[in-house]
Order: sequence, then structure tokens, then C-alpha cells
Amino acid sequence: MRIGIDLGGTKIEGLVLDADGSERARLRVPTPQGSYEEAVEAIAGLVAELERRVVARCTVGIGHPGAISPASGLIKNANSTRLNGRPLRRDLERAIGREVRLANDANCLAVSEASDGAAAGCRIVFGVILGTGVGGGIVIDGRPLTGAQAIAGEWGHNALSLPRDDERPGRRCYCGGAGCIETWLSGPALQGLFTARTGRTLRATEIADAALAGDAGAAAEIELYCDRLARSLAVVINILDPDAIVLGGGLSSIAHLYRRVPNLWRNYVFSELDSIVTKLLPPKYGDSSGVRGAAWLWPA
Ligand SMILES: [Zn+2]
Repeated sequence: MRIGIDLGGTKIEGLVLDADGSERARLRVPTPQGSYEEAVEAIAGLVAELERRVVARCTVGIGHPGAISPASGLIKNANSTRLNGRPLRRDLERAIGREVRLANDANCLAVSEASDGAAAGCRIVFGVILGTGVGGGIVIDGRPLTGAQAIAGEWGHNALSLPRDDERPGRRCYCGGAGCIETWLSGPALQGLFTARTGRTLRATEIADAALAGDAGAAAEIELYCDRLARSLAVVINILDPDAIVLGGGLSSIAHLYRRVPNLWRNYVFSELDSIVTKLLPPKYGDSSGVRGAAWLWPA
């Protein structure tokens, strides 16, 4: 059996999948907000408790923010910045007592959805996290593409493409850039843009609900969000030409995105309009896609 762990900013989720992909156990604990060492201990504790429940020794795959630098073996590019510069693989292997496989959380989403999820049967899949942060991962023939710098698919820290006059230069980003896709498309970004426009405070999914209910200010903000997402994904389509793009993260529950964004990306993709077959799909496993993908890092 396989254990998958999803290390998030607010929670650590773990599950056990058996050989046919069905779920045998699941646990969720808050991410310790203190030290890095506490987070490592929490993951090791979760693995021990999951194995106690299924009475078996399992393989362990872990999805985490950021990437492991091929040069140093240390975590880089994580929006949970206390992970950066840490030897997470070495520390987890020591704490858990076996080899572990680690992958970026967006790669895990893409692996899960390409394995037995919304994009099953698709050769080239781009997975997108739209949540507290924005990330992307590429899966080809079921396997994550890591890349020379281990940043393949890292899309959230490119600048928004085709910026309008009022979108330049964009806000500063924690990465040191300005106007990054993440500063436009994350949940906090959408909330902040809506508040700046309307003076009201709603969560990202509430803005989408208000737009559906006829709220003009919310509808205008969601339309801009869809257009920015369409511009950002058109760049991915032009380079990678995926069969499917699967969304994950909290904003992936906004159903309007799947109708509107493919209509808008037709304006930006370099192809005849009637030949764009790339699908934009919601995750089959919802919130659980990342943790399932982490388990699938050890294929059957
Ligand atoms: Zn950035």
C-alpha cells in the first residue's frame, strides 16, 4: 500500500491507497506554525498513525510547495518560506526511516488527475493550483516532468501576459518580481482586487457566487479574473500544447471558470479557432487530488 502526504500551509493531509487506488485510511492535522522541525515531526507522526491503522508498512510519497534544488538538495521556491533552504528529503527519510519520494504539490495534482482522475487517458496534462498560491505542474505519459532546475511547469511567477495599461507594473511579489501571475490569480489576490474595486470583503468563492446571483461588481471582477487566467493559460498551451489542463486548489470549485476561460483563451492561443481541443477540467478528486498524487509517486 501507498501513503500520500500533502504538506500545505495550514494543514497536513495523509491517506493510504491500496493497490487498486481505493482509499483505506485518511488523516488530517494542522500544520505546526512554529518551527520547520515540528513540521517534519508532524509528517512522521502522521505516517506512523496511518500505518498503525492499516497494519502495514507502506511506501511514502509527499507533495510539498516549491521544489528540491538538483544542485543543493534543498527546498527552494516554496511560498511557505520557512521550508526554503531546508534538506526536507534527508530530514524526512531520517524521521520516517525509509526512502521517500517528494514532488511539488502541483505536480502531485497533475499526477493524480492524469493517473485515474479527470485527465485519465490524456498524454500531456498541465495541473494548476489556484489557492493561497498559484503553481503548475506537467505530467507526460503519467510521469511528472521535473526539469533541469526542477521548476518545470512553474508558471505562477511569470509576469501576467498581455498586461492592460491598468495592470502595469503590478504588485510586488514575495519572489522579488512584480506583476507575477500569482499576484493576480491567487485567492488572496482576487479578494484584494475585489475589495479595492467595491470596498467590500468577500472570500474568492463568495465573489463567484455573488457574480452568479447578479452582483455587477462581483461579475466584473470574475470576468477580469477569467480573462487573466485565459491569458496566462494561453501561454502554457502555446508552449506545451496539453491535452488537458486540470485545476486544483480552493478556486477550482468555481464552476464558471470551466465555461468561460476556454472561450476567452481562443483570443490568445496561436491556432485556428476551431482546432483548439485542449480541455479545461475540474479535479475529479477535489481537494484530495494532491494527496492522492503524492501516493501515486510510487506507481503500482
Ligand atoms: Zn512572484
